[in-house]
Amino acid sequence: MIPSATPLAQPADWRQLYRESAISAADLLHSLALDADALQLAPADAQFPLRAPAPFRARMRIGDAADPLLRQVLPLIDETRRVPGFEFDAVGDLGSRGASGVLHKYHGRVLLIATGSCAIHCRYCFRRHFPYSEELAAKQSWAAALDYLRQHPDVSEVILSGGDPLALSTSKLRELTDGLIALGTIRRLRIHSRLPVVIPQRVDADLLDWLAGLPWPITLVLHSNHAQEIDDQVADVCARLRAAGTHLLNQAVLLRGVNDSIRAQLQLSEALWASGVLPYYLHLLDRTHGSAHFEVGESDARAIYAEMRRQLPGYLVPRLAREIAGEPHKTWL
Ligand SMILES: *Cc1c(COP(=O)(O)O)cnc(C)c1O
Ligand code: SF4
Repeated sequence: MIPSATPLAQPADWRQLYRESAISAADLLHSLALDADALQLAPADAQFPLRAPAPFRARMRIGDAADPLLRQVLPLIDETRRVPGFEFDAVGDLGSRGASGVLHKYHGRVLLIATGSCAIHCRYCFRRHFPYSEELAAKQSWAAALDYLRQHPDVSEVILSGGDPLALSTSKLRELTDGLIALGTIRRLRIHSRLPVVIPQRVDADLLDWLAGLPWPITLVLHSNHAQEIDDQVADVCARLRAAGTHLLNQAVLLRGVNDSIRAQLQLSEALWASGVLPYYLHLLDRTHGSAHFEVGESDARAIYAEMRRQLPGYLVPRLAREIAGEPHKTWL
């Protein structure tokens, strides 16, 4: 290797932060002054390795093994246990996730699995069992997705999901929206992403330009599970996103050891609203293999939820929901 003459301490751009989001459990724990031997870690998993970008890691508390951000990404031995009811295809989707990355389950809206990659690997996520290749719907300039929408003019909303759709370059995203504009049948665009929270640098001038120039109302659904994820930098990018005309919503998952307390939920709703983000869904866990240790029982969930309703204004109470295979919409509890 030729030694590089450029200094290493350049301000990191989002792609670099993305590339550098893989970290070993030992290094992560060391950086937090935690003893790896005191935690029961899972063996390294090549298919779904630990990933946590630096801006997200920086919000973890030093010396706290129960930190709610650390818990979301730390592979524990619990993941390897088989638990009845926790299946590889928790929401019965894998069959309908065609190579084209188009999921049409609900009326009037189509979900595109834009790409399979994520900047962060959330241990509770079904994604871990679905090692899709890169850029599913984004393949071949989104040809399959655009074809599908051409044949389904009753679809008026496109939902970009993944993986994380903002892992794609802005020019790739522009390619899709140019195609959607040409169709003339789309009236709403929704983007589900964890990137504005886990790597706020992703919200750069180019992304904001793209969003501001789109002809429809844009909804950006952040996936934040804990108030501690929302620091000043995240609040700042939320303000920029709103200035670019996007509506900000949040969807969280109720997770044992992360946010399964009334206090955590109240703080999350308050922190979101302080940044102009409206809580949308609070999901019960999809029962995917390896996530059983995150499950909050339905009666505990209902008790937390009842208290949220008592203490929060109605517009700061997300809908408690669960996805049940075969239902025509999410099931509200
Ligand atoms: C969750 C989901 C949607 C969106 O549902 P909303 O209730 O409108 O948020 C759309 N398509 C699929 C396949 C989904 O899983
Ligand atoms: S799809 Fe979302 S929840 Fe799942 S690992 Fe990726 S960022 Fe995390």
